[in-house]
Amino acid sequence: MSEKLEFKTESKRLLHLMINSIYTNKEIFLRELISNASDAIDKYHLTSLTDEKLEKTNDYEIHLDVNKKKRTITISDNGIGMTYDDLVNNLGTIAKSGTLDFLKTIKEKDAKEVDLIGQFGVGFYSAFMVSTSVEVRTKSPFSEKAFLWTSKGEDSYTIEEINKPDRGTTVTLHLRKNEDEENYDEFLETYKLSSLVKKYSDYVRYPIMMEQETEKPVLDAEGKPIEDKYETITEIKTLNSMTPIWNKSKAEVKDTDLNEFYKNTYFDYVDPLLTIWTDVEGALTYKAIVFIPGKAPYNLYSEKYEKGLQLYAKGVFVMEKCKELVPDYLRFVKGLVVSPDLSLNISREVLQHNRQLIKIAANLEKKILSELEKTLKNDRDKYEEFFKAFGIDMKYGIYDNYGEKKELLQDLILFKTVNEDKPITLNEYVTKMPADQKDIFYGSAASKEQILVSPQMDLLKSKNYDVLILSDDIDEFMINILHEYEKHAFKSINQGDLNLIDETEKQTVKDLEETHKDLLEAIKTTLASEVKDVKISTRLTDSPVCLVSGEGLSFEMEKVISQMPGDKDLKADKILEINPKHELFKAITTVFANDPSSLNDYAWILFDQALLIEGLTVKDPVAFADKMVKLMIKAAK
Ligand code: ADP
Ligand code: MG
Repeated sequence: MSEKLEFKTESKRLLHLMINSIYTNKEIFLRELISNASDAIDKYHLTSLTDEKLEKTNDYEIHLDVNKKKRTITISDNGIGMTYDDLVNNLGTIAKSGTLDFLKTIKEKDAKEVDLIGQFGVGFYSAFMVSTSVEVRTKSPFSEKAFLWTSKGEDSYTIEEINKPDRGTTVTLHLRKNEDEENYDEFLETYKLSSLVKKYSDYVRYPIMMEQETEKPVLDAEGKPIEDKYETITEIKTLNSMTPIWNKSKAEVKDTDLNEFYKNTYFDYVDPLLTIWTDVEGALTYKAIVFIPGKAPYNLYSEKYEKGLQLYAKGVFVMEKCKELVPDYLRFVKGLVVSPDLSLNISREVLQHNRQLIKIAANLEKKILSELEKTLKNDRDKYEEFFKAFGIDMKYGIYDNYGEKKELLQDLILFKTVNEDKPITLNEYVTKMPADQKDIFYGSAASKEQILVSPQMDLLKSKNYDVLILSDDIDEFMINILHEYEKHAFKSINQGDLNLIDETEKQTVKDLEETHKDLLEAIKTTLASEVKDVKISTRLTDSPVCLVSGEGLSFEMEKVISQMPGDKDLKADKILEINPKHELFKAITTVFANDPSSLNDYAWILFDQALLIEGLTVKDPVAFADKMVKLMIKAAK
C-alpha cells in the first residue's frame, strides 16, 4: 500500500526556488548525498556505542552505482536509516523556518557563487536539480519495517512499505534528460563521478566505492602480459583517499589544499582569512586546525547558530560542534581538534568538565589571539578586514563576564577616530597623544561628521586631541568595562566635566556663575522637567549651547537601551551648558534684565536647539516652531 503526502507549504516554495533559480552549480548534489550517507553512518556508529541493541561494527561503506540504460545513479550507505516518522519529518519538511526568506534575499543578489545548500539543511533536495524523480529506500534498526519514499520534487511524495532486510539507505536518482545548455549525461560517466568524489568528498571518513571498468593487459600462462591484448575488467574501487588532512604533516599540506578543505567542510564559498594549524605534543597531545572565515557566517547572530569545533578522539569522529572548545566571542571560528588523549565515549555532560578539553580550549584561545596579534602587526589590511567582519565579537569579548578578558583583548580592538583616516588601536592613540593630554576622549555617533559638528568638539579641536568614534551599540558598554587604558581614563565628549581648563579659567567660570546666578536659576526652573542642571560651559568656543550627560548613563546608552525589550525608563541625566562668550548669552542676559517674562521662550528654544545638535528629537516641534516665529516677529519690530 502506498500513501500520498504533501510537502509542507513553505517546503514547496523553497523546493521550487532551489531547483529552478538559486543554485547553478548542479554537481554538488553528489557531495550532499554522500555527506548525508556519511552523517548517517556517524549516527549509527555513535548510537551503537551506547545502545546495547545495536550491533557493533566497523564495516561502514558508501556505494555509488550508475546504470546508463535506466539513467540512474544510486548512493547507498549502511548507516542509521530512517523510520516512517523520520521520513516524514526529515524528507517531508524542507529546511528550518526562516530559510525561505533568506534564500529569497540571496536570489536577488548574485547567487551564482554562493554555496549555501549545505548550510541550510536542504542538501537532500539538491538531488532534484539533476533528477526527474528520487527514490529513497531505507531501513532503520529501530523499525521492523523498511520504506520506499518517492517524489518528483513537486507537490507531494509517497511512502510505501518495502522489503529491505539490511540497515541503511539507498537513494536512487532518475537523471533528467540533457537540455539546451544543461548536460546531465555526464553524471552517468564513472570518471565524472569519481572526479567529483575527489573534488568534494575526498576526506569523507568512510570508503566511497564504485564499480569501475579498467583496461588490463591479458596475461599468458606464465603470468606475463601479452602484447596488444587487453581485456576490460570491472572492479570495485575506493574513490576517496579518506586520509584526513590532519593526518598529514603540516609541511605536506599546501595552502590551497587547506582552503579547499575549509570550503568543502564548512560550506563556505570564500577562502578563510586565517588558517591556524597547531601540533602540540607533551603532557597533552592534540592537533588543531582552526579557520577564521573571510566573511561572517550568514546566521552568526541568529539564535540557531551553534559555535564549536569538530572533535576527533583517537582518529574517530566524536562530535560536530564541540562548543566547549571555543569561547563565545570567538564563536565565528571553524575547524577541528584531534586528540588521542580523549576517550571515545565522552558524553556531552562529561565533556563540560573534561580537564583535557578545558586545557585544549585555553591553549587554542591563546593561540588564536596571538595569531591575530601577529596579523595586526604584519598585515594591517588583512587585520582590518578581519575586524570589519568580527570586530563586534571581539568587543563583546571585552564586555562579556565583567571584563574578565579585557587585558587579553584590548590591544586587538580598532577604533575609527576624528583625526585618523584608518582605524587605530588604543596603543596607537595613546602614543600619538599631545604631551598635555591625559584622558582618552570618545564620542558616540554613527559618523565622523556627526562628532565634528558636536559643540563639545570646539575645545578638543583647538587642542588637537583626537577622539575615538564609537558607532556600534556595544562600544560604550565595552568602554565602561575597560574603564581605563594604560592609566588613561576614558572620557565621553558628551559627559560631565572634561577637565580641560586651568585654575584661572575655572575661577572665571565660577565668577560668571555667581554673577548670573539668577538667570541660570530661572532657566533651570523653566526647564525643570527636562534638565538636571544649567551651567556655564567651560568647553564651548563657537556654539551657543550644548547638552551633556551627567554621571552614569550616556545619551547613546539611553538610545541603545530604549531599543531593547524591558525597562525603558532608564534615562541619561541632561545638563544644559551655555557658552558665556557667545553673543546669544549676552542677548539673553539683556532680555532677562529688561523683559524677564520672555525668558521662558528663550530657555525652551535653547534647550530644543541643544537637543537637535545632539541628534535627539524635540519633544514638541510645533511649540518649538511657534516660539521661533514669535521671536522673529519680535526681532523685526
Ligand atoms: P542535513 O543533512 O543538513 O540535515 P539534508 O536535507 O541533507 O539536511 O537531509 C535532511 C535529513 O534527512 C537529514 O538530517 C537526515 O535526518 C535525513 N537523511 C538524509 N539522508 C539520509 C541518509 N542517507 N540516511 C539517514 N538519514 C538521512
Ligand atoms: Mg545533508
